[in-house]
Amino acid sequence: MNIPLVDLKRQYHSLRPELERAMQSVIEDTAFIQGPYVQRFEADFARALDVSQAIGCSSGTSALFLALKALGVGSGDEVITTTHSFFATVEAIVEVGARPVLVDIDPETYTLSLQQAEQKISNKTRAVIPVHIYGNPVSMGPLMELARSAGLHIVEDCAQSHLAEYQGGKTGTFGAAGCFSFYPGKNLGAYGDAGAVTTNDKTLADRMRKLLNHGRQDKYLHDSMGYNHRMDGLQGAVLGVKLPHLEDWTRARISAAAKYNSLLKDVPGIQLPVPTADGRHVYHLYVVQVSGRDKVLADLEAAGIGAGIHYPVPLHLQPAMLEYGYRNGDFPVAEQAAARYLSLPIFPEITDSEIDYIADRLKKAVAAHG
Ligand SMILES: *Cc1c(COP(=O)(O)O)cnc(C)c1O
Repeated sequence: MNIPLVDLKRQYHSLRPELERAMQSVIEDTAFIQGPYVQRFEADFARALDVSQAIGCSSGTSALFLALKALGVGSGDEVITTTHSFFATVEAIVEVGARPVLVDIDPETYTLSLQQAEQKISNKTRAVIPVHIYGNPVSMGPLMELARSAGLHIVEDCAQSHLAEYQGGKTGTFGAAGCFSFYPGKNLGAYGDAGAVTTNDKTLADRMRKLLNHGRQDKYLHDSMGYNHRMDGLQGAVLGVKLPHLEDWTRARISAAAKYNSLLKDVPGIQLPVPTADGRHVYHLYVVQVSGRDKVLADLEAAGIGAGIHYPVPLHLQPAMLEYGYRNGDFPVAEQAAARYLSLPIFPEITDSEIDYIADRLKKAVAAHG
C-alpha cells in the first residue's frame, strides 16, 4: 500500500474533462487576471456560504491581510489569536503593523481558549482571529458575545474550514470577515495559490476589492495606495468547476473520520479528535494524539502511509516570533499537544480498505512505541 496524506490526483481524474475545458476557456478568452471566471466563482462561493459578498484574492494569507487592513487594524494595535495555527495567521497581523497576542488552546477541540482570550484583552486590542483549526469550528456563540461586549472585530481564519458550521451557521459568516485559502491541498483547492474573504458588509467588501487591486478607483485613477493581491482567472475557473462538489466531498471527509473513529476508539495510547459541541467538523485534517509520536510516524512511513504533523512547533516558539518575548512553558496545553499530534491521511476519495489498513498499522505502532 502507498497512501499519501492528501491525494490530489484522484480528484483531478474524476473531473478531468470539465477542468481541462474550463482552463482552456480561460486561455481562449485570455481572461488571466480577475475577469468573468473569478466573478462567477465569487458569486457562487457567496451563495454557497449564505453570505452577501465573497472577494476573490491571491491566497489565504492575503485574505487575512486584506480583512485586517480594511478594518483599519494597524500600528499600535493588538490582535489576539491562537498559538496553534499555520504561521500565516500571525504573519498577516504583523504585516498590517499590529502586534500578535497569542493564547493557549482548549485541550479537547484544539481551538483557542476563550477564557485566555478574554484575559488578554487590553485597551490596545482591536481584533480576535479565531482559527477553525483542522476544520473544527470555534465556539462562535460565546466568542461573538465577548467581541460585542469588548467592541472587537472578529476575523475568522477559515483556511481549513470550508462548509464547517457552528449552530447551523457556516464558518466565515459570524465575524466581520471570513478568510479562506484555496491552496491546492485545502478542502476546496485551486491549481495554484488563491483565497477569498467573505463578509456581509458591502462597505468593507468594496474597501478590500480596492486594496487588492492597487487602490484603483477605475482603470487609470488610484485614490489610495493598494496592493496586488488579485485572483487569477485560471484559479477562478478551476474553483468554479470544483465548488458544486464541495458538499459531497465534505460528507466523504466526515464519513472517513467516522470510520477512523470507530476503528480507533478505546485503543490505549490514542486520543481521538473531539468536534466542538453544536458544530460541524469538516476534517481538513484528521489529527489524533499519540505518545511516542516520532517512532509511530516512522513506522507508518515504512508501511507506505503518508502521515504528517500539524504543527510540530507552536507559533509562540517559532524563531521569527522571538521579539515578542514568548518562552517555552508559556502555553503548556499547546506545547504538550505539539509533541503528540499525528495527522492521518484524509481526503474525499480515500477508500474504506485504506482506512482499515492505516488504523491497523497505527494500532500496531502505538502498541510497540506508545
Ligand atoms: C493554509 C492556511 C493559511 C494560509 O493560506 P495560503 O492560501 O496558503 O496563504 C492561513 N491559515 C491557516 C490556518 C491555514 O491552514
